Amino acid sequence: MTKISDYRGHTARENVERALEKAKSVEEYNALLSLTEVRALERADMVDRGEITGRLAGVPFVVKDNFLAFGAPTTAASKMLANFNAPLQATAVEKLEAEGAICIGKANLDAFAHGGSTENSAYGPTKNAYDTARVAGGSSGGSAVITALDVVPFALGTDTGGSIRQPASFNGVVGVKPTYGSVSRYGVVAMASSTDTIGCFATTAADAQLVMEVMAGRDDKDMTTLHEDFYGAEQVKPGQKIGLIKQFMGEGTDQEVREKILAYAEKLRAAGHAVEEVDLPIVKHTLAMYYIIVPAEISSNLARYDGIRYGYRAEGVRTLTELYGRSRDEGFVTENKRRIMIGSYVLSSGFFDAYYQQAQKARTLLIREYDELFETYDALIGPTAPTPAFGIGENTNDPIKMYLADIMTVPPSLAGLPAISVPAGVSQSGLPIGVQIIGPMKSDARLLALADSQEEK
Ligand code: GLN
Repeated sequence: MTKISDYRGHTARENVERALEKAKSVEEYNALLSLTEVRALERADMVDRGEITGRLAGVPFVVKDNFLAFGAPTTAASKMLANFNAPLQATAVEKLEAEGAICIGKANLDAFAHGGSTENSAYGPTKNAYDTARVAGGSSGGSAVITALDVVPFALGTDTGGSIRQPASFNGVVGVKPTYGSVSRYGVVAMASSTDTIGCFATTAADAQLVMEVMAGRDDKDMTTLHEDFYGAEQVKPGQKIGLIKQFMGEGTDQEVREKILAYAEKLRAAGHAVEEVDLPIVKHTLAMYYIIVPAEISSNLARYDGIRYGYRAEGVRTLTELYGRSRDEGFVTENKRRIMIGSYVLSSGFFDAYYQQAQKARTLLIREYDELFETYDALIGPTAPTPAFGIGENTNDPIKMYLADIMTVPPSLAGLPAISVPAGVSQSGLPIGVQIIGPMKSDARLLALADSQEEK
């Protein structure tokens, strides 16, 4: 797979033309919803004329289609926004463009990022880069697959409960979910505001570090962005103390996955780090917390799609109630509706204390358990997902089974912690397996340095 530096010896036009050509040759994967071809070639010529310079000059990339970006509609893979042309660009995209990077297309996702397989896209599932009968993972499945297929050296995603890390692990690439608040979410379609983050896929930890460094930072248009600048590249710290999360290494995890994680732990030991088992007992409750808090926030964030202000509007309706009802019914996919209904239920006055309030209290306990571990340990490791990529259609009729696959990625999201997924090898049947590395708040660059030190060069 190519790295960012491999693009430097070529003109921007060569890079962009090659990426576009490659993108067209892998259409069967359904990883991209649109190409931003005209704008990409225009920008490439600007770079070649020296009108745009920067650390990513002439490097092509792809954005998940829930980022507002010019050159193609922003659909969030839904019918609701099928013809929505963004009037502005996401801050993250603007920052990459300011460094000369060139967006060539927009990637498929689960509609509104609700899901873990990209099967909830209104435009059909994305296929896994290693086995087209299997899912890409999700919700940023298209971005992961397009990186794994070597169309671009990096792609953007959003991660609310695993949507970057899990598809990264299913497709054998690096995926970064940063510390909550490190990258501006301005211009990105909101899912669950208290856990939404913006991150990237890349083929190496060093490339991911560079992309994150460019995107991170305070943005007055997103008041949740942190003020400090903590994304500067770091050297790997020798002799780290690393905890291997015991709860994720039991029977519920595929044996081959466990073996790969243990092998990664051995490699860390061989490099002079200490790895020992640690306990995170509260994780057994984290899916319950997540699937209360996140739908609650979804139900409120998605209230704006009412068929009036913007987005899909049903035809032939006679009353206002019918307009709201039919537009939302026809514009959203089943999973969107399921979450809106659960969210409205847990926020309703009769049940707020019993569900939402309880979940928020439990979330505080989770944060405390992590805090305690980080008093002793520099980082925690474990699998990113309990299994390698599952088959297309395998979990679609059983939402609980689908949600169970998020058990490992959801806890750091609820605690706002940085977590990355890096390749840890492939299974006997040739499917990639990822290891998740989690650190305390703002340790992002340190985690990436550790991952970089373990990569085969
Ligand atoms: N799979 C998780 C969910 O369905 C995560 C989604 C995400 O991070 N956007 O909520």
